[in-house]
Amino acid sequence: MVVGVHRPTQLVIDRQALRENIQAEVNRLDDGCELFMVVKANGYGHGAVQVAQAAKDAGASGFCVAILDEALELRAAGFNEPILILGVTAPADAPLMAREKISATVAATDWLIDADRYLALAKEGQPLRVHLGLDTGMGRIGFRTPTSLQAGIDFMGSNADHFLFEGIFTHFSTADDPDDTYFKKQLANWQKLVGSLTKRPRYVHVSNSATSLWHAACNDNLVRFGVAGYGLNPSGTAIAEPYRLQPAMSLTSELVHCKELQPGDSVSYGATYTAQQAEWVGTVPIGYADGYERRLQGFHVLVDGQACEIIGRVCMDQLMVRLPKEYHRGTKVTLVGQDGDATISLQDIADYCGTIHYEIACGFTSRLPRYYLN
Ligand SMILES: *Cc1c(COP(=O)(O)O)cnc(C)c1O
Repeated sequence: MVVGVHRPTQLVIDRQALRENIQAEVNRLDDGCELFMVVKANGYGHGAVQVAQAAKDAGASGFCVAILDEALELRAAGFNEPILILGVTAPADAPLMAREKISATVAATDWLIDADRYLALAKEGQPLRVHLGLDTGMGRIGFRTPTSLQAGIDFMGSNADHFLFEGIFTHFSTADDPDDTYFKKQLANWQKLVGSLTKRPRYVHVSNSATSLWHAACNDNLVRFGVAGYGLNPSGTAIAEPYRLQPAMSLTSELVHCKELQPGDSVSYGATYTAQQAEWVGTVPIGYADGYERRLQGFHVLVDGQACEIIGRVCMDQLMVRLPKEYHRGTKVTLVGQDGDATISLQDIADYCGTIHYEIACGFTSRLPRYYLN
């Protein structure tokens, strides 16, 4: 999709906010504990390369991504720090990962056996860096028993020219929940599995943002810091953040058209909204093709510091809002962020849509240009 640079609708990313959030976390970590910034999904919609640079400036010593292409994007941008792919990559790509010094998450020994064949053929001259994923209750990927884990470690040990056992980790499914019953169960599973190791690898890690914010005691020597770095509370509103998180993303546009409706006039597809009295209506050039969801009919934007309801259906590329009075074409519209005393957060949008802010942030499409402040 082309980037809409000739349209007055944009995501604005405050790099200072990113740096301050990440720095605050780095300062809280125990000595010897590193922070890898999670920049998967284009940095949660904020722009992976820009976020990686801000994170590096703030003290991050590496990065996590979800897929190999995201790791290669960082390498192409000149980042030489460690990069861990959190998802499962094809064994056929093991030589490419080895060459680029990109660390793979490995969830089963049969993966190692397949990758070993590709590594033997490719003769990269350096081993693939491996973090073993442990499934302690997330139920997604990873080794689940000491026996299967030991088999994986043994296989790497007997093929040490192909594999470097660099890390071991797990992922909690309820670290953002005020009820820590399940968290404790997962932690006990983790301790049992890791306790069975005869030798600890370089990186031992369990913490996403929520775990590091609220269960820092189990961080070990690496934190995979994601959503909180972007200034978003991982729990939504369920648990207070231990320090102020500053949202880095805002979304702004302009009125491209303004008109007065008469009683009985309708707006947008399906004519689901009909004016009861004379009223001013503005048109904003953003729609569901930008990731501004169709479900946001009835929600609001900010114009001149005031909340203005989105009336009628959100279209693919445009939406209409009810204005308190006539405003000129070119008047600023804030869809996410602050205008005067009023603020709309990604959390507000997520609440209205019945989802989480993660989904809203990474749902903004590539048609929206990203501009960077500070
Ligand atoms: C996405 C992800 C993270 C980061 O999670 P946040 O909640 O954004 O901090 C950490 N670890 C794994 C395995 C992930 O998939």
